[in-house]
Amino acid sequence: MLFTDLGIDNRLAKQLSHQGIVEPTEIQARAIPTALAGHDVFAQSKTGSGKTLAFLLPAVQRVIKQKALSKRDPRVLVVTPTRELANQVYAQCRMLIASHTLSVTKILGGENFNDQVKALAKNPHFVIGTPGRIADHLSQRSMQLQGLEMLIFDEADRMLDLGFKAQLDAINEAADHRLRQTLLFSATLDHAEVGVTSRNLLKAPKSIMLSDAHEKHEDITQTLYLADHLDHKQALLTHFMKSEAVGQCIIFTATRSDTSRLSDLLNEQQLNAAALAGDMPQNKRLEIMDAFSRGQFKVLVTTDVASRGLDLLSVTHVINFDLPKHAEEYVHRIGRTGRAGFKGTAISFVGPKDWKSYLAIQSYLKDPLEFTQIQGLVGKFKGLKEPKPKAPTKPTTNKKKPASAGKGKVKVNKPKIAKKPIAAPMDVDGMAPLRRKPKPNVEE
Ligand code: AMP
Repeated sequence: MLFTDLGIDNRLAKQLSHQGIVEPTEIQARAIPTALAGHDVFAQSKTGSGKTLAFLLPAVQRVIKQKALSKRDPRVLVVTPTRELANQVYAQCRMLIASHTLSVTKILGGENFNDQVKALAKNPHFVIGTPGRIADHLSQRSMQLQGLEMLIFDEADRMLDLGFKAQLDAINEAADHRLRQTLLFSATLDHAEVGVTSRNLLKAPKSIMLSDAHEKHEDITQTLYLADHLDHKQALLTHFMKSEAVGQCIIFTATRSDTSRLSDLLNEQQLNAAALAGDMPQNKRLEIMDAFSRGQFKVLVTTDVASRGLDLLSVTHVINFDLPKHAEEYVHRIGRTGRAGFKGTAISFVGPKDWKSYLAIQSYLKDPLEFTQIQGLVGKFKGLKEPKPKAPTKPTTNKKKPASAGKGKVKVNKPKIAKKPIAAPMDVDGMAPLRRKPKPNVEE
């Protein structure tokens, strides 16, 4: 099947083929005709499955083919939870409109407001931004949405997690007219609030639920390793970095200070690592992201600041040095590898401090993750006893019980001989800065 079979304009399809994108992915094949037919869309599809083009292509096509409702207002607004994701969407939008006289601007938190006012005054066709800053421009009247034709929410669940419900409501209100079409996409749409909020945002949406976020990602091999303490985690990390066929690797830590400590440690081992933390100045962050995307660093050590929106096909490994607090974040973190059909490996270390997160992840995923051991690196920690539940907050499902680390289910892995790394093109633009107060991965 080709993009033109889905109703995509020849010129747009050609633009895609210049990027080596010829055949639609499943989510694109399902969502594009639905959106082109004018329906609202509520879509869930796994990380790296081509969601961005699934919503951008119908949006761009609409702008090219249909008359504008207003000459002044943006025609398409894409709302994303993080600056990283906004940059990613912006890069793909620019690629799509490259051969048309169309314009796109970004309005991101943490960047100069007045520059954004000037950019908005030029009446761009597409605006891509983060919810707080979009709401600020609406309240300052530097952007109006009465003429908006398409409103797109990317990773809506994350925006709700980050407490942006009021801003989403304000955006919804500002573009409240019957001609607006709304698309809502994510890899994880089972957030309790998503159902309620999406009923306000979407009108008679077509639901396209391609993947169950709880299901195993077939392209990502996932394994867990028990760790007694920090030193043990570091020994495991050194083992993997030396023995596994690591192309590029992203290591997630719980704290910012750990990012620099670990990258120093890896650099001592000549592993060419860089740390990326949300509190770094914008230029520094852009520089690091750019260098990583060009392959100048092998390892990026970061916090959840990079758990969504980083799209590098050359990332072969994700290592959770510490587990994330929220189970959905595990799905997004590991989704930085195994993108666009490439294979990836996700390795997670589970120490006493990670145990609560481990239980949450196990009960979130349909197929329990298994523990594996490395000969010579087996510790004493075998898991914590489950505390007696106080009052269940949600009804229990038939999901399997978390695999207990101490029940003899542990496989012993002999150190592996390195396989050939996956060589793949890279595809990312520079990343915008992120200050993370009070929560990570969010504009203020
Ligand atoms: P996304 O899920 O939108 O972040 O996309 C993940 C990666 O897949 C990006 O690098 C896209 O450029 C790439 N991609 C998207 N659609 C296709 C396609 N139809 N064929 C090949 N690669 C694609």
